[in-house]
This record gives sequence, structure tokens and C-alpha cells, in this order.
Amino acid sequence: MREYEAVIGMEVHVESKTNSKMFCSCINGRGLETQPNINICPICTGHPGTLPVPNKQALVKLARFGQALQCSIADYTWFERKSYFYPDLPKGYQITQYERPLCYDGQIEIMTSKGPKHIRITRIHMEEDTGKLSHINGKTVVDYNRAGLPLMELVTEPDIRNAEEAKIFCEELQLILRYLDISDGDMDKGQMRCEVNISLREKGTETFGTKVEIKNLNSFRVVEQAIEYEIIRQTEVLERGESVIQETRGWDDGKAITFSQRKKENAHDYRYFVEPDIPPFKTADIIIEAASITAELPIAKRKRFLGEYQLASQQVEILVRNKALADYFEQTVSELKAWMISESKEFTPEEHTKLVKLSANYLLTELIKHYGEKGLTFDNSPITAENYAEFIKIVFSGEVSSTGAQTLLLQMIETGSDPSDIVESQGLKQVSDTNALQGIVDKVIAENPKVVLDYQNGNENVIQFLVGQVMRHSKGSANPQVAKQLLHDTIIQNK
Ligand code: ADP
Ligand code: ZN
Ligand code: MG
Repeated sequence: MREYEAVIGMEVHVESKTNSKMFCSCINGRGLETQPNINICPICTGHPGTLPVPNKQALVKLARFGQALQCSIADYTWFERKSYFYPDLPKGYQITQYERPLCYDGQIEIMTSKGPKHIRITRIHMEEDTGKLSHINGKTVVDYNRAGLPLMELVTEPDIRNAEEAKIFCEELQLILRYLDISDGDMDKGQMRCEVNISLREKGTETFGTKVEIKNLNSFRVVEQAIEYEIIRQTEVLERGESVIQETRGWDDGKAITFSQRKKENAHDYRYFVEPDIPPFKTADIIIEAASITAELPIAKRKRFLGEYQLASQQVEILVRNKALADYFEQTVSELKAWMISESKEFTPEEHTKLVKLSANYLLTELIKHYGEKGLTFDNSPITAENYAEFIKIVFSGEVSSTGAQTLLLQMIETGSDPSDIVESQGLKQVSDTNALQGIVDKVIAENPKVVLDYQNGNENVIQFLVGQVMRHSKGSANPQVAKQLLHDTIIQNK
């Protein structure tokens, strides 16, 4: 069997998070409308005699998206009409951009399991969304609430080579959109829709094969699955000596297969021409306004977190993918830094690192788990970052044992109280004082004569059981190291 390589280009549509629709003053309800056809007007339903007015906020957001993807931004541009008939398109044409997209020639760096990879962005242009058809009981109904929403279309060069790259590419786009507040990019709400163009070629050859376009991929998982399926299907076609047909295919989620939908139209079928109702326009003020939207991009955050905090890359990834969580972590660290400066003692670099690592570890294992179970988020955290930093100080200084720390954290979530108060009121303070622990140790030894004998006969492992008993009797407050030493000393003395 010959070996094939996949060549993949993506087309991604994104609904922009603006106040109003693209060419009229209907609000941008982003699908939050409770009834069909309530958020419409003569412009977005294409009545004769109405005039579209471009939404500057949408163009600024598009330009910002382009800047984030290192695109050139056209200094002068215009809209075009793309004519076709479909019931979800009341005007009989879509206002879009064709000859001169606002953004072009960009690139994005993604981090794959095989290292960083650059994907070139061909263009990102501005257009308007269509209405939505629903097929109910053999009838088709149309809802124009979505008609005229600002929609951005991004096209990549065919630089992607496998399903993993395609998925990570889409995930990274979504993150950038969210970081810059351009769109929520929720795929299940249709705010971000991905189409895959995929062909195969024999490994080592340059020329591209015939491509197939796959539409209606509404999750990252499905993008990945459809590509994997299509690679197998096209390989089989080629191995049979047949050729791949250029067509549009859909995704059947139930069967997990792609299926033929239609042969692709050529561009000239759309009869693009310049939209006569919107004069061409200069973009200088759009570009300046876009550039004034400052936000750290995910890739910069990733690099900074790796360097500044020396966290593991998996930890960094969890933080980068959840902006509220990352902000929470950084607030905690800055609280801890302020505390270290205010203390009279000097902290060593190792102690700095230890505090940061403790913050990340408890946050990304314990707190994330509890919040997930209780449906809590870090935008609205019951534990303030200040209190969480206080908790880390308590753990760092050994004031509570690790068992005590778990109890403390849960109490903090329940009550939102100050951790020092909880330590006090719940008696969680770790007891390292041997005098204070001796009573419990004596009791545990008296209660477990067989285990003690085992230990005296050289079975050292059983000490862990006895330490556990001391922890239990002390309600988790005993310092386990001190307890272990004290048990050992007491047993040996009694021998
Ligand atoms: P069309 O004219 O069919 O719209 P384009 O050249 O505009 O095709 O490209 C559309 C998308 O398909 C782009 O993302 C591009 O990178 C990708 N693409 C183009 N040719 C191929 C190919 N042979 N195999 C895979 N993807 C391709
Ligand atoms: Zn309208
Ligand atoms: Mg094209």
C-alpha cells in the first residue's frame, strides 16, 4: 500500500459579539431570543428600499482578530454581493467581502504534541449571517433572528497535516476570540463553525490531490473525527485506483461518518459584484481603534507562565484555557509576593518557588475539583484570592497538616470565611509539640498491642498504620512526621 499524507485547509465562521447586527440597528441577540422572528427589521429581512449601514464595532473586532493573527489589514476596502437563492437569505444575496478582505496574509502558531507549528491565514473577511431553517414534522420553518448578525469568515492556507493540528488550531482560535472578547466562540451555539477541506497526496510528492469539503462540524471532537474518517475513506478510494470526487460532505454524528451532500459550486455562480448601497471606505480609524484593544494573547500567556512561574506545561495549559482561573492564580501569587516583602525575614528563591508551586498544585488539583463538583466558577469564587493566598501561607508554614489542609479548604468553600479563623475555630492547627502528642501516642500504642509487637519484630511498614491512628485521634491535627518519630521512640523505650 502506498503511503499518503493529508493536506488540510480550514474555513471558520465566527459570529462577532457586537451590540447590534451588521447592517441594521436590531440588537445582536446572539441566539438568546425566546421566540423566532422577534428580533428583525426591514433591513435584515431585505425589504425593498432599505439601506444597509455597516457596523463599525464589528469591523474593529475583525481588525483586532486580524492583528492577533499577524494579518495585513487593508487600508481601503468595500463590500460585495454574493447572489444565491435560499429561504434563509431573504435578500437573495449576502453582503460579504470578496476581492479585498479586511484582513489577509496572517499566521498563527499552535503547539502540537510534536512541537510548535505555523499555519498561514489566507484571509478573514466580514459578512452577515443568514436566518435559520428548521425542519419540523415534514414542514420547513424559518427564523430570521440570526439574519444579519455580523459574521467573520477565516480561511487558512492548506498547511494542516492531521486531525490533531486541525483540532488544536480551532481551539487556539476560540481562545484568541475569548481573550479579545471578539466572540464567545461556543461551537455548540453556532457562534463558531468549522469546515474542513481535505485531500490526500502520496507522501513525498508536492502536488495537491482533489479536495473534499466537510461542513457542519459542531465540536472540536467532531473536527478531529471527521478528518480521521475522511483520511481512511480517501485512502480506500485511491487504493482502489479511483479518484476522489470534489464535493461537499456532511457529518453524521450518529454513524460517525461523512456523507456526500452536493457537488461544489464554482465562485462565478455567485456573480459577485460591488455592493452599490455601501460606499468603499478607508480603514485607518478602524485599525487604530482595533490596536487600542489591549489584551495578552494565549500564546504570550503560555510563554510567560512557563518562564515566570516555572509550572509544568500541563498546568500552564489548564490555566491558559481558563482565563478566570489564570487571573485567580496570578492574584494569589501577587498576594504572596506582597506578603513575602512585608515579612521581616528574607525568603530564599527556593521558598519563592515553593509558594508558587503550592498555589498551583492546590488550585489545579483540589480547588478545581471541588468547584467542578459544586458547579462553582473562578469568576465568582467563594474563596477570594486573598483568602486562598492566606491558605497557602498556612500550608507553607506547616500550621496545618495535609489532612488538615483538605478540611480547611472545604470549610473555606462552604463558609467563605478567613482561613485563620477556621483553623482557630475548628482546632485544625497542626500539633508538632511532642508533649501535646504523647497522650495520643500512648493511647494508640495501648490500643494496638499486636501491631506494636509486629513493629518490634522488625516489620517497619506497620508504623504507617499507627501514624494513621494518631492522625485519626487528633482529628488530623497531628504533625505526621513528629507522630512517627514519637511512636518509634516510645515503642523502642517500652521494649
Ligand atoms: P475553493 O475555490 O474551492 O473555495 P480555495 O482555494 O478557496 O477553494 O480554498 C478553500 C480552502 O481549501 C482553503 O482553506 C484552502 O487552504 C483549502 N484547500 C485548497 N486546496 C486544497 C487541497 N487540494 N487540499 C486541501 N485543502 C485545500
Ligand atoms: Zn434588523
Ligand atoms: Mg474559495
